[in-house]
Amino acid sequence: MKNSTTINSYAGFTIGPIYGVFSSARKTRELWFASYFFSWFMEKMIEQLSKNNEIDFLSPFVTKPFKSNESISGKYHDRFILQSSFNKEDLFKQIQKASDNTLDFFAELISSLVIKIGAKYINGANEKTVRDILNSYIQRNFVVFDTNDIKLSTESTSSEKSKIVKHINKYLDSMEENRFFETGIQSKTCFICRDLPANIEANVWVKSGATKKETKRNTSPSKEKLCPLCFMKYFAHMSEEVAKKISKSEFRFPTILDIASVELLTEKVKEQNPLFKDREKDYEFQDIEQAVHETHTKKEEADSLLKKAYPKYFAILQADGDNIGKEVGNIDSVSFSYSLFNFANTAEKLIKSYKGYPVYIGGDDILAFVPVAFKDDDGKTKTVIDLAIELSEKYKEFVAQNTLKTTLSVGINIAYYKFPLSLALKNTRRQLFEEAKKDEKNALALLLTKHSGHQIGFKFRFGSSDIKSFSELLRKTLAGDVDFPHSLHYNLSRYKTVMANIPDEERLEAFFENNFNEPEHSKFASGINQVKNCFKEVILSVPREQSEQRNNYVKELLSKLAFIKFLRGEK
Ligand SMILES: [Zn+2]
Repeated sequence: MKNSTTINSYAGFTIGPIYGVFSSARKTRELWFASYFFSWFMEKMIEQLSKNNEIDFLSPFVTKPFKSNESISGKYHDRFILQSSFNKEDLFKQIQKASDNTLDFFAELISSLVIKIGAKYINGANEKTVRDILNSYIQRNFVVFDTNDIKLSTESTSSEKSKIVKHINKYLDSMEENRFFETGIQSKTCFICRDLPANIEANVWVKSGATKKETKRNTSPSKEKLCPLCFMKYFAHMSEEVAKKISKSEFRFPTILDIASVELLTEKVKEQNPLFKDREKDYEFQDIEQAVHETHTKKEEADSLLKKAYPKYFAILQADGDNIGKEVGNIDSVSFSYSLFNFANTAEKLIKSYKGYPVYIGGDDILAFVPVAFKDDDGKTKTVIDLAIELSEKYKEFVAQNTLKTTLSVGINIAYYKFPLSLALKNTRRQLFEEAKKDEKNALALLLTKHSGHQIGFKFRFGSSDIKSFSELLRKTLAGDVDFPHSLHYNLSRYKTVMANIPDEERLEAFFENNFNEPEHSKFASGINQVKNCFKEVILSVPREQSEQRNNYVKELLSKLAFIKFLRGEK
């Protein structure tokens, strides 16, 4: 759209229910495609609409000429807002057409996948039935305004476009709140989501005994009845359309163990068992153990690699910008969308450098699977906490740019590799929205759920000295550069109250001196010293009179130490 053209209309579009489609995913690849599908839907619509010279996007930032997203991470939000020189009625028709074309595209994608993998329609279904189900389940809502009908408040000094974005966002919010959809008839419901009518029968590998210690391995897939969405999520890696879209023919989103155990799964180890490269079947941690033993002739070498707990645990990281709603009214919305676009590209590279796999990066909104820790090619150990710190710093650099009052908050959930995915996701969301974003925001909240069910949780503010000293201690301990005695956590726990009441640095030094003066402690000097510094920074920064806060800080520090102790493989 040329600058001189008059703007006659504005529109906003929103799609859902993203969490509805997410929640039934049991495998990472199903979750990935659940998310990718929505981003791709939005991208296809934006691609069609942006070819129109009469249409300009206000949010998100759209490159001109349009450039397709070839990354495996979804980049498009569940909303867009645009302006146009079309009148209201014509703009409405354009959006409706783009939306319907896109729905047809996915109905066809599912149909060709049914043929490709040799599945079959049941209950009298066909491509039209698939389209009808998508049509009733995928919520596509939009609103179109005539420029003259928008009455903007004259109070704030922000630009008119920013006010319009804020105005339309409010409409989209209320549309999302008022959504409902029909679920399937009980007797025909889908084997995976148990929500939508099942009309495709396909061979599915059913994982057995997720909670039992001894898992029975299935030797053949079983015939199950699926709804079109679950079918698409499960088999997306076999789709030619998907391969074309991401320019990768043999891609399958990595399994949880592929990501969690990256440190153990070297090329040599992977050669020991064809299961590691099988795109259909899953392997177990026992398979990794066996392969590690086969690769290392010295038993002690294999044992020391397998002793650590973290390769059996996976992290989900979710991030979201703070105060964006407030800031949107005060800034140029187009340049803000552009800064989010640039941040997303940087964040994607960063997550990959931590061997993580972003499911979704739409501006400030990030969801990724990441190993808890791993030894990089340069021999340095990196952890998911280091990644969170780097993301927060990049956000400040790209988005806040020293002027905006927006920061990034991060939630991390760490769980055993067999932990149910939908619950792990729920926990991650809770860490982000109910812990990290509580009070002052700009924080990292982390929850570890051990295989035993025992949980450890704590929180940091980004930019604080304690997040830096903790991440350093964690990194060095996991790398084996720093060690502390087995009894350290126990001894400190015994003296919780004494620790909370320590008056000054001198007394703190004396406390550590007296309690860790056995000859065997000398080899742990550096580890004990680092722990002492953590206490010094956290406890002595609070006046002694604020005893409740001091008690809480001591408790939190002990949780953090328990976290480190657990990850390095101590019970
Ligand atoms: Zn389903």
